[in-house]
Amino acid sequence: MSRGAAARGREAALVIAMLGGLAVPAAGQGFEPFSMAGLNWYRGNTHSHTALSDGDSSPEVVARWYRDHGYQFLVLSDHNVFTDPKGLAWLMDSTFLLIPGEELTSQFGNKPVHVNGLNIPHVIEPRRDSTLVGTIQRNVDAVREVAGVPHINHPNYGWAMDTAVLARIERDRLIEIFNGHPLVHNHGGGDSPGMEAVWDWLLSRGRRIYGIAVDDAHHFHGEFAPDRSNPGRGWVVVLAPRLEAGAIMEALEAGSFYASTGVAVDSIQVEPSRVTLRVRQRGSFKYTTQFTGQDGEVLATVGGVEPSYQLRGHERYVRAKVTDSGGAVAWLQPWFVER
Ligand SMILES: [Zn+2]
Ligand SMILES: [Zn+2]
Repeated sequence: MSRGAAARGREAALVIAMLGGLAVPAAGQGFEPFSMAGLNWYRGNTHSHTALSDGDSSPEVVARWYRDHGYQFLVLSDHNVFTDPKGLAWLMDSTFLLIPGEELTSQFGNKPVHVNGLNIPHVIEPRRDSTLVGTIQRNVDAVREVAGVPHINHPNYGWAMDTAVLARIERDRLIEIFNGHPLVHNHGGGDSPGMEAVWDWLLSRGRRIYGIAVDDAHHFHGEFAPDRSNPGRGWVVVLAPRLEAGAIMEALEAGSFYASTGVAVDSIQVEPSRVTLRVRQRGSFKYTTQFTGQDGEVLATVGGVEPSYQLRGHERYVRAKVTDSGGAVAWLQPWFVER
């Protein structure tokens, strides 16, 4: 070590000592700026099926279910079928929007490869490739080629996509961390991680990827039961300037939303070194928020409806998961730390 380097080392040690061990973010460090100004919340589901593929109801019945249950937008995403919302224009108004979509349904060997295409202009032929990574990538790219927005569906379904595979996929910003279908293994098991751990794994390797919750609903008739694929289980709430497909897509790809299975968040306040949420109180429910960072480390656990996290200085990203006393969850998108 040169004398100059040694001196700088002593200076750095002195600064740390003067701060009394408190890791204060240096100037220029802090959360990337975020503001809710001029934005509204819009609740939607980006994954649903109709009788045009393997759902049990007509597109009209499916769209009506969402419109009547407090959603502002819906993507009809049938398997390799383009369910054109133009035929349902009369169901749409300033408070409810249908966005065209498709679930590009392919496979590699016995592994299902399902990629949603949101806001696409026409049907896209699903693609195959000589590798699993290539198959996923080619379907993601097929959606991008028509200026649609891709999302990778239920990676643990058929135990098809592990972290090593997902880490190699490019040009995708959205991944299902919760899917309401009963057979998709959101929580992982045995030697396979759950989707939240997979998400942290990807984020910790520098990926900007956002976690979505979806219904993947098929069953609108008959009994609503845990072993059936019913609607109303997982959704996103998007912060966008207006209820229009392009604006919703832009917000999703920018991570301007949260995913939910029942917890609502009214506001997100991001200051350079602090993030504060306001959770909507429902009945007598109690709320616990877990702030998580690099490698899934739990940074803090906070009770109440106004949880807050103060940046300590070593974080690369922080995300929040709010759980209510009934088990419902809201997953906030990660806030990245500028360096
Ligand atoms: Zn699927
Ligand atoms: Zn599906």
